[in-house]
Amino acid sequence: MNAPLSHSPAVRTTCPYCGVGCGVLAAPDGTGGAAISGDPEHPANFGRLCSKGSALGETLSLDQRLLHPMMRRTDGTLARVSFADALDRVGKGLRDIVDRHGPSAVAFYLSGQLLTEDYYVANKLMKGFIGSANVDTNSRLCMSSSVAGHKRAFGADTVPGTYRDLDQADLIVLVGSNTAWCHPILFQRMVAARRERGTKLVVIDPRRTATANEADLFLPIAPGMDTALFSGLLSHLADTRAPNYTYIERHTKGFVEALARAREIAADSSAAARIAGLKEADVAQFFKLFARTERVVTCYSQGVNQSAQGTDKVNAIINVHLATGRIGRPGMGPFSLTGQPNAMGGREVGGLANQLAAHMGFAPADRDRVRRFWSAPNMAEAEGLKAVDMFEAVDRGAIKALWVMGTNPAVSMPRAGAVRAALRKLDLFVVSDNVLNTDTIEAGAHILFPAAAWGEKDGTITNSERRISRQRAFLPLPGETRPDWWIISQVARRLGFAAAFNYDHPADVFREHAALSAFENHGERDFDIGALAELSNDAYQDLNSVMWPVQGKARGDKRFFAAGGFFTEDRRGQFVAPQPPALRDATNAVYPLRLNTGRVRDQWHTMTRTGKSPRLAAHTAEPFVEINPADAKTVGVSHDGHAKVTTRHGTTILKVVVAAGQRRGSIFAPIHWSDATATDARVGEMATAHYDPHSGQPEAKATPARVEPIKFAYRGFALTRRPIALPAGTWFARQAVSGGAGLLFATSEPPAVWREIAQELMPADADIAEYVDERRGLTRIAAFRAGRLDGCLFVGPADTLPSWDVVRGLFEADKIEERDRRILLSGSASDGTAETGPIVCACFGVGLPAIREAIAKGEAATVAEIGKKLRAGTNCGSCIPELRAILGRVAEPA
Ligand code: SF4
Repeated sequence: MNAPLSHSPAVRTTCPYCGVGCGVLAAPDGTGGAAISGDPEHPANFGRLCSKGSALGETLSLDQRLLHPMMRRTDGTLARVSFADALDRVGKGLRDIVDRHGPSAVAFYLSGQLLTEDYYVANKLMKGFIGSANVDTNSRLCMSSSVAGHKRAFGADTVPGTYRDLDQADLIVLVGSNTAWCHPILFQRMVAARRERGTKLVVIDPRRTATANEADLFLPIAPGMDTALFSGLLSHLADTRAPNYTYIERHTKGFVEALARAREIAADSSAAARIAGLKEADVAQFFKLFARTERVVTCYSQGVNQSAQGTDKVNAIINVHLATGRIGRPGMGPFSLTGQPNAMGGREVGGLANQLAAHMGFAPADRDRVRRFWSAPNMAEAEGLKAVDMFEAVDRGAIKALWVMGTNPAVSMPRAGAVRAALRKLDLFVVSDNVLNTDTIEAGAHILFPAAAWGEKDGTITNSERRISRQRAFLPLPGETRPDWWIISQVARRLGFAAAFNYDHPADVFREHAALSAFENHGERDFDIGALAELSNDAYQDLNSVMWPVQGKARGDKRFFAAGGFFTEDRRGQFVAPQPPALRDATNAVYPLRLNTGRVRDQWHTMTRTGKSPRLAAHTAEPFVEINPADAKTVGVSHDGHAKVTTRHGTTILKVVVAAGQRRGSIFAPIHWSDATATDARVGEMATAHYDPHSGQPEAKATPARVEPIKFAYRGFALTRRPIALPAGTWFARQAVSGGAGLLFATSEPPAVWREIAQELMPADADIAEYVDERRGLTRIAAFRAGRLDGCLFVGPADTLPSWDVVRGLFEADKIEERDRRILLSGSASDGTAETGPIVCACFGVGLPAIREAIAKGEAATVAEIGKKLRAGTNCGSCIPELRAILGRVAEPA
């Protein structure tokens, strides 16, 4: 357990968000907070942090934390119980269900947010001791198609290259990846390479994203058609004698069959352009560039993986690198960018239902090896259920006990509404989490375990380039929170497996994990960190980041496959002939558009951590749907209005963003909002559950959908220092604000009703100011107390929304002057107050109005000049693509 820490020097740890895996220095302030900066010595980021990483210090409060074990009473409410009682109940519940229904009636659903040590213990308990392989993870939704593609091509889930390849490439191709927003520090590395060595950037995406705005060539591909483009590229390479036949003959197999299939799918640039909905000249330019550039890295992410044909897409990309021998050498290779901080660590320990442990599978020899290593009494005999099938098994009653750890499937799973309903059928529903107010807990969890959060827990994670880094504790464990590995081990002891789960420290778990990776591994398995199996606790504490494999005394950043040595039986890399691209669900008159889902720059997953930061909240305040102007006109929605978005699976109500960069026929909606943060905005609810046959990864990018206008007569906002509830039927989005909370809302209730609501919101001893204009339908009420704005509520006609940013600024101020009171009720910055938002640069809080003003006044005409004038874009660089877009100079050099 962690000893309390206070006023300690900076602790070296790792960011808990994306798969870049940036090193962080956290200096605790002794009051539960910490100053955060980038670790200049960490090779993933060399001191830089993006907007999310920089704001980590704003997310450490214990607000909404789950601090004690809880159990649901018969009246449906949750009540605190002792840890021993909660552990006993879970142990007994699992034992009873296994005894009555067998081990396949229980399942764990894990998270890419867990540390490797947590993952290892959960996987070991289920697959070796309970006897089921029903362990899956939200990483299934993130990168399992990459895993399946790697295994088909390489014989193992091996990432061949390293981040240094991005510095050394002459061409970087980004496929289905809004890297500028989702992996910002890596993207800045790419931009630096372009500046320093002229690296060309090609972006392939249905949507013109912030990343696409930086590209030398942007290919706005039709949804789902990546395989056609890369098949056309393979055909083109063959026609122009670009393949490296020496490499193909020495180190691979299946080239002839893969090329024949590629020619069937797209024989040349013309066919590829036609199928992929692209201009032939653009495709020809891309093919030519790829063919003539030796140092090419092709990065791909969720736009490739989250597809019912995701694995074939991955293999179509790998095929062109195998064909050119551009793999495992400096500046070359296919590169899967993982979304989550520890998706890779989960893969290493077998956190997916179709893996065993240490990159072993369910072949008899692997099962036997792991059984002997663990002395496991009940080894799972076959693969378990992957995420979509797992929740369907819950729905039909085949799974009766589920333990969810560190994730929120009631929001993030496709058809999330059906998942939520299924969870209510469980006999035993256990959740381990940091926070109390998740939609998954609301779905009826019976027992809650308070898990340690980032800053409190201690272990390792692995980033996209196979680099293992320590996440170190720098805060004491609050309340009764405990690390996940400890909670799982305690349950294992209650199931009768004490000897095998006798861990006292995360280093105990790590040593065992490292030893298993080397156990009977004579070079047949890629994942080997055996050299770390003897680390002392002190050495584990001090461990610098290290890239695997770590064998013997060898340290250093290894690339794979430059000279073959694949992990297939004959050690040859396998070309794969992909299926022709086709989207499973057709659009039709009822659902004429395709819903693409994804992320915004400054939020992470379901916002349980990033949602606490006012700075991050200011970038994108409300859940939205992005739509092309022509489609917006057709369906009758307008920018800044509201729309109802419907698929066969669910409905949301979202703000409308009309954007020319959105492809015609497609719409985009971010995944972050839940019932805890907005009304009717759970986008996962609308996504289809169709999945890839090889990886089980669901199609999150192409669900047929329709968009309809929805009118609210009034809009408004409330800023309060106490939690408030708005009347049923009000559409709202919650936003973090310094010193309180903000609610942006839309309503059809008239202002008179809101005046009554406002009376209830305002404290009795407050000085109330009110501005009512009955004719225009305006109501603005503000409460002042102790010299500051204590709360306010503004409502007005939907087309005359008062300035939220100005009022929020006054709410966040320590003191409010008389002049500010007048400005406040005017709801406008027209009388001199600087309007701050929406925020573009989260690091320095620079808003769009200030940037526009600097440009209009001729004070800034380039990104560099904006930086000089306002500091925007001079820290993490995440906002540079937006600055460029604002300047309207897409191709301007940084
Ligand atoms: Fe964290 Fe940003 Fe680095 Fe990702 S890029 S690990 S979110 S700081």
